[in-house]
Amino acid sequence: MLASRGMPVTLCLGTPGAEQEIESPAVVIALKIRTVPADVAVRQAGKAARWLIERGARQLYYKYCSTFDSTPRGNIGPVTEALMRLARCDLTVLVPAFPDNGRTVVDGQLLVNGTPLSESPMRYHPLTPMSESSLVTMMDAQTRAGTTTHVPLRTVREGAAAIRAQFEQQRRDGFRFAAIDAETNADLDEVGEACADLRLVTGAAGLAGSLPSALRRRSLMETRHAITELPSVGGYAAVLAGSCSEATRSQVRAFSDTAASFVIDPLRIANEEIDVASLSGAAVAAAASSHVIVYSTTDPEALRRVQAEIGVAESAAIVESVLAAIARDLADAGVRKFVVAGGETSGSVAAALQLGELAIGPQIDPGVPWMISRSQQPTCLAFKSGNFGAVDFFEKAIGMLP
Ligand code: ADP
Repeated sequence: MLASRGMPVTLCLGTPGAEQEIESPAVVIALKIRTVPADVAVRQAGKAARWLIERGARQLYYKYCSTFDSTPRGNIGPVTEALMRLARCDLTVLVPAFPDNGRTVVDGQLLVNGTPLSESPMRYHPLTPMSESSLVTMMDAQTRAGTTTHVPLRTVREGAAAIRAQFEQQRRDGFRFAAIDAETNADLDEVGEACADLRLVTGAAGLAGSLPSALRRRSLMETRHAITELPSVGGYAAVLAGSCSEATRSQVRAFSDTAASFVIDPLRIANEEIDVASLSGAAVAAAASSHVIVYSTTDPEALRRVQAEIGVAESAAIVESVLAAIARDLADAGVRKFVVAGGETSGSVAAALQLGELAIGPQIDPGVPWMISRSQQPTCLAFKSGNFGAVDFFEKAIGMLP
């Protein structure tokens, strides 16, 4: 979202080393901390924040899922609190709204295409089933109760000055977190303007789209930069899907008709009925003459059965490690185009591929760009959140590559 609004961005997979310097107006550090224990998430986010603060970052942006993926034990609340301490910020915002992807917040309730979060398909998420829609209630469970408040749509539509005035009042009243309503991009622009001087903001990717123009108004960013062009890397593409979200399920069905497809069934892998090395070998062989899709994507009913049989964390760990291993084998065999569906899945594939810094290329769908590794032999990657994108997402993404 930052890059698409003309801000140069460097994406780092994991916190860069202490000796590493990066020249870039925006540095994004990607971590895989959505479902790790809260203390681990706090430690890892703290390390990333310190790296940024020590290099003079004027604002931290803690980005999480637009469906506020978390459990009553965390991690959004504890990580936000830790970042506030590091950034010396006494009041921050919660802005999961992302209207381009159908995520809105009205009366403090998070809606997915107009349906309350707790009634949306997110209630079936394998790791973070969402059974609550109120941002204040969710934050109260994850932080000290009574410290989260709300900025209504009425105030947002009065404009940035009114939102800032409300922050002042909320600060005086002792609140620390303000959940902000937003239904449209115009609402987000007002929120972005009101938040541009906060030391820490938190939210989904949507708000990031409103920050570059607020920075330009403050003369903190002079020019608009072109996004990095996609290199021609040749060969066929591999799609790796570990999301069971509704959008991914239809995307997998659509793409399986046109690509060599391979299924990962964690139960059969656990029972040693499937040999992962041969599965991977077959995918590598197929990638020489066609696009390939490897997926564990399944419906809620089948998912429940697997989770009951071998456990939630265990089945997810099998899926993630197998997809990561196959990604590595494909890359070793020369595949340079990867589309990955699923947030956690993207994290494990990214770690397996060890790509270092990435440049942001053109946007495929709102919030999902192509990325290009800065290695000698560039690799093109698209990491898609499970519920994002239209049914032809994989085909569309691959079709954009030269
Ligand atoms: P999303 O972006 O839709 O939330 P994620 O990749 O973040 O997708 O999360 C999906 C989780 O579900 C991952 O941890 C993945 O390993 C797990 N998972 C995927 N397929 C299966 C399956 N067939 N059985 C059990 N767990 C699965």
